[in-house]
Amino acid sequence: MKTSILGYPRIGSQRELKRASEKYWKQEIDAEELLTTAKTIRRQNWALQQKAGVDYIPSNDFSLYDQVLDMTLTLGCIPQRYQQVKAESSRLDLYFAMARGIQRDGYDVTAMEMTKWFDTNYHYIVPEFVQNQTFALDATKIVGEYKEALQLGLQTKPVLIAPVTFLLLGKEKEAGFNRLDLLDQLLPVYFELIDQLIDLGATQIQFDEPCLALNLDTSAQSAITQTYTQLAHRFPTLEIALTSYFDCYGDHLDRVLELPIHSLHLDLVRCSSQLDDILGSPKLNDQLILSLGLVDGRNVWKNDFQSSLEVIQRAVKQLGGERVWVASSCSLLHSPCDLDLEENNAQLPDTVKNWLAFAKQKVSEVVTLKALTVEVKSEALVEELVTNKKANDDRRTSGFIHDPKVKRRVERLAPSHSQRISAFSVRQTTQRETLKLPLYPTTTIGSFPQTPEVRSWRAKFKKGGLTQGQYDQLLKKETEATIRFQEEIGLDVLVHGEFERNDMVEYFGEKLEGFVFTQFGWVQSYGSRCVKPPIIFGDVYRRQPMTVKWSSYAQSLTDRPVKGMLTGPVTILQWSFVRNDQPRATTCQQIALAIRDEVCDLEAAGLAVIQIDEPAIREGLPLRREDWKTYLDWAVEAFRISASGVQDGTQIHTHMCYSEFNDIIDSIADMDADVITIETSRSEMELLDAFVEFKYPNEIGPGVYDIHSPRVPSQEEIEKLLQRASKLLPIGNIWVNPDCGLKTRQWPETKQALLHLVNAAKKLRKEV
Ligand code: GLN
Ligand code: ZN
Repeated sequence: MKTSILGYPRIGSQRELKRASEKYWKQEIDAEELLTTAKTIRRQNWALQQKAGVDYIPSNDFSLYDQVLDMTLTLGCIPQRYQQVKAESSRLDLYFAMARGIQRDGYDVTAMEMTKWFDTNYHYIVPEFVQNQTFALDATKIVGEYKEALQLGLQTKPVLIAPVTFLLLGKEKEAGFNRLDLLDQLLPVYFELIDQLIDLGATQIQFDEPCLALNLDTSAQSAITQTYTQLAHRFPTLEIALTSYFDCYGDHLDRVLELPIHSLHLDLVRCSSQLDDILGSPKLNDQLILSLGLVDGRNVWKNDFQSSLEVIQRAVKQLGGERVWVASSCSLLHSPCDLDLEENNAQLPDTVKNWLAFAKQKVSEVVTLKALTVEVKSEALVEELVTNKKANDDRRTSGFIHDPKVKRRVERLAPSHSQRISAFSVRQTTQRETLKLPLYPTTTIGSFPQTPEVRSWRAKFKKGGLTQGQYDQLLKKETEATIRFQEEIGLDVLVHGEFERNDMVEYFGEKLEGFVFTQFGWVQSYGSRCVKPPIIFGDVYRRQPMTVKWSSYAQSLTDRPVKGMLTGPVTILQWSFVRNDQPRATTCQQIALAIRDEVCDLEAAGLAVIQIDEPAIREGLPLRREDWKTYLDWAVEAFRISASGVQDGTQIHTHMCYSEFNDIIDSIADMDADVITIETSRSEMELLDAFVEFKYPNEIGPGVYDIHSPRVPSQEEIEKLLQRASKLLPIGNIWVNPDCGLKTRQWPETKQALLHLVNAAKKLRKEV
């Protein structure tokens, strides 16, 4: 039996890589210093796995920015617009130019597109393909890292994004061809690369083929067969380790079992039923090794050794120990680095800490699971098993997690809890009477600029340098100034500005029961950007109001309606580490009830407009279509639970950004928010099509100002967008607002842009 890790976090446990790359971009350090930092991280990662006793340690799992971009460069798939940079700069600067764009030294080239890696919060750089695409090998990185490990006395397993997945992850930049048609040209470049690795002594290569977790059309399916048939033919002695993760092989299982590969990896965390399907399959040959992905690379919980051992034994019984590997479920890239760093974290009780495992601990778990299976059990091993069992038993029964009151409330949820009193058309009439808003009402999405000053207050307050009273005073002043500004320029529905919030999920997590926070639990989101998701460990409920103080303070300053501002249950769920001892849907219902309580309290405090942000609804979609409905049903239901406790006259808004709506528009309509605001300015209102075709009945605010750029849109531009929207939607349903919150913007540009926005709305009102 062997152990295998699919990949290890590369940001460094103290985010060393983030710091070094940002300094390099600011030209504060040179390339050598950055590369030395990178090398140190790689060495530490390898040493850690070697020390733990992992058999198959990956290389090329490291990346200075993104592993897909690394592959793009390795395959020489460099878009035309970077040719000059390529000719004149180092490989490193070309790489960062592709990742981030470049606007200096006479260059002005945009970055490549970035998008989410399957259903994770990691973002990769999307490969670009043209009709007469050529590929050419640049093995520098992969071979370099392989040699680097060799020099440390380590024979690694290089990890490659496999050919079909690489093509599918990309995009055709011209019409008239299908990117899969490029496979024949691409494969020889992979062959060349593999030749070099084999020459250096590599015996096993991990081919990451996570596209097998998706629905694939027949051409993609045959491309898979073609690829592995050719690989096996070309490299008869190479151990081809085929890995997919994040879901079952599903429909592809028979095909995959027929491939001439050495080992097949199963993500048994996401799809535990798969092992029995395979063990019972007549297609299973008598050579194939199964890599059992038992240790969760996507979440923070300690493995349950007892149940993992049962699975391992089941496999061993049928296949024998030589045909079974124990592995992480996917790359550990998606886990925080090291739980040991949380030693002095007062916000993480020991009880909860004892239930957790981060990347470093997960590596040990993989190794221990093998030891527990194969070795004559030493005392220390038995002890480990006992401790693990105790931790898991303790978690199952802990009063710290399980709150009968919360569970009862969820059980008693009735259809009426997710139903507003009257239908939208009735509510709209009531709201028109009470709110008395003009046509084309104007509003913003919630946050106003989080200036360095505002951030410094929070930092100071957290360190004890400001009392609660002093901190509140500063925030009040900022809030009041923001209300005055909105009144002055004539916005119709005001917001308080969200100055008291660090982050739209963390803020609520800190106020809700059932959440804990790490100090160093950073996970890479893209490039140098890392996030530190809260951990939902127990039943979630609200002890006391969370936002009423700030919203009602803001409302007390003005006669115009102020919009209460909340994060929705699906988004809170989606952007946290979630407990694995109950369905996500149940956790989501608990959060929904807590938000519902807040909504009702806001209403009682006199807020007639309340926004429940759900920017993460779409990214929660399962990888396979056939699973969409179940998810959308409970996600929409959760939103409705949170929104339905109010009177008809209370106007519920929701907000989504970065979303494509076409394929989920009926669910969006099902949410039945009185008003939805969305991001549309960059797509010139293209995103509206879905709403138009669907005849979306409720009110809608298509964003008219791209808040991602400091550029100020002119009044005319905004008028044009509004005119376009007015042709598509009933005029009485149109709102005027920016694409998203303004917290990353600065005041001067914000003021101008919003003034243009208000004036554009006024102009349109006159034209009606
Ligand atoms: N209300 C939040 C804000 O304005 C919404 C952020 C988001 O959609 N991501 O910042
Ligand atoms: Zn947004």
